[in-house]
Amino acid sequence: MNGDNVGPNFIRDIVEEDVRANRDGGIVVTRFPPEPNGYLHIGHAKAVCLDFGMALDFGGRCHLRMDDTNPSKETEEFVEAIKTDIRWLGFDWGDHFYYSADYFRKMYDIAEELIRHGHAYVCGLSQEEWKTYRGVPTAPGTPSPHRDRPADESLDLFRRMRAGEFADGELCLRSRIDMASPNIHFRDPVLYRILHTPHYRAGDSWCIYPMYDFAHPIEDALEGITHSLCTLEFEVHRPLYDWVIDRMDELGMLKSVNGVKIRPRQREFARLNLSYTIMSKRKLQQLVAEKRVSGWDDPRMPTLAGLRRRGYTPEAIREFARRIGVTKFESLTDMALLEHCLREDLNRRAPRAMAVLRPLKLVIENYPDGDEETFDAVNNPEDPAAGTRKVPFSRELYIERDDFMENPPAKFHRLAPGREVRLRYACYVTCTGVEKDSAGNVTAVLCKFDPQSRGGGTPDGRRVKGTIHWVSARHAVPAEFRLYDRLFTKENPADESDGSPFVDHINPASLETVQGWVEPLMAFAAPGTPVQFERLGYFCPDLRDAEPGKAVFNRSVTLRDSWARAMKAGKED
Ligand code: ATP
Ligand code: MG
Repeated sequence: MNGDNVGPNFIRDIVEEDVRANRDGGIVVTRFPPEPNGYLHIGHAKAVCLDFGMALDFGGRCHLRMDDTNPSKETEEFVEAIKTDIRWLGFDWGDHFYYSADYFRKMYDIAEELIRHGHAYVCGLSQEEWKTYRGVPTAPGTPSPHRDRPADESLDLFRRMRAGEFADGELCLRSRIDMASPNIHFRDPVLYRILHTPHYRAGDSWCIYPMYDFAHPIEDALEGITHSLCTLEFEVHRPLYDWVIDRMDELGMLKSVNGVKIRPRQREFARLNLSYTIMSKRKLQQLVAEKRVSGWDDPRMPTLAGLRRRGYTPEAIREFARRIGVTKFESLTDMALLEHCLREDLNRRAPRAMAVLRPLKLVIENYPDGDEETFDAVNNPEDPAAGTRKVPFSRELYIERDDFMENPPAKFHRLAPGREVRLRYACYVTCTGVEKDSAGNVTAVLCKFDPQSRGGGTPDGRRVKGTIHWVSARHAVPAEFRLYDRLFTKENPADESDGSPFVDHINPASLETVQGWVEPLMAFAAPGTPVQFERLGYFCPDLRDAEPGKAVFNRSVTLRDSWARAMKAGKED
């Protein structure tokens, strides 16, 4: 994973320029700071690939830091899931794993220093009152009546806040910056709030918690982060980020490396939005809590755990991150591109096999009952080294129900009465009739085969238009197939501006389960290993439910590449 992990983009240009100018001594240290209040999703993967990829590309390192300053929804389960997902994506933080909570004591001490130096004060305005005081960007705000409270008095109140003498929201610690700034985030923002809520890691040792905007630059400064990359919504918070860094500098708390003082800088990029799904952790949590999906790792979820279970590979996700690039503009990325990246990857390495999802029996009347033979099948046409395997064949096979039509239209090139098709790798068969149940449904297709065509030869040069897949009924293993579609029917379900909540647009047909058959070797496929079932798509045995003797396959993606088709059509226009 050395070299060019990230591809060209404006962040890369900035980092390159910083290294060239020998800023921070020419080193690159980034961090990925998830809040452990949910599982990582494909949007986080974009940030992970950028943070870790940039460090790799410039010979630096990337820290993993649990941004756990908000005690209410964070858990150790999420911490572990986040680590698993980042490792799975192929990235490594070495020894640099941190918790924001482990800095609480230091942050508290820094806050006291800021009070002593007149940079912060304890304020008694309620949140509602503050809205009025803070005002609007077009006119200066009104200073809090507590803004000029003597430092000693603020210090005393702050200590009593920490000691638990006040209720939630009764007081807060405010920075003393600029009530006239056109950027209202710069008008004396809150640094500490009272929250009588225990923390999953710090226990009940704190009842005041630092705000993200205060905690984050302190953590970056203490760890010596050079490039703090985040999403665009933080752009308006950047002056505050710089303000905290300046205070850290004044306090002599910026980290030095080889005698060079590291000054962290924040850079913002547009977050990933993906069509037909959602990225908000709160909304994903809601899907899980309301049991609209089976869990965070439901294969329809855009979480990394869900994508992994669906059969996505780290390589496909990293390639996707490269392809979407990094910009300053919000946009909606087409889900078809993500699927395209998966197909490209699996096409190269997934072995081929045959399966039948919706079985219809095919009986070869001129094939002796009790006889059997094997045919050689190519394991991967993209990879000659993958070799061939033996596929068993006998008188009774299963074929796909929709590969047969009793009264087909002219363009139907598969099996129909009187028509001949090639059974993949095996031989030619011609349909001689059908068997039906009392309701008139076709229960079996009767055929005769041409012994001259054994092994795929063309006896007299005659050509058939259709090739269909099959499995030998006697040898096949029963399997469950889970066929997935998009989780939402609306292109951008996160947009609720028309008044309809996102859950109203869940696709009722996002999961179809069918019972079919796979060729015998597939009974032993290890969970998670990809396979292409010919003509049906890429699948993998489910990580949770598949076991020896119980074949359960998730369809990762079909073979129809709507992205490649759209690109081709675009070129021809
Ligand atoms: P939410 O808004 O749903 O709570 P979040 O952005 O707060 O999500 P974090 O755990 O704080 O979630 O995110 C960790 C990092 O991942 C942040 O640096 C954030 O900017 C980045 N990130 C989150 N969502 C996306 C996205 N859709 N695209 C790119 N980066 C993202
Ligand atoms: Mg966040």
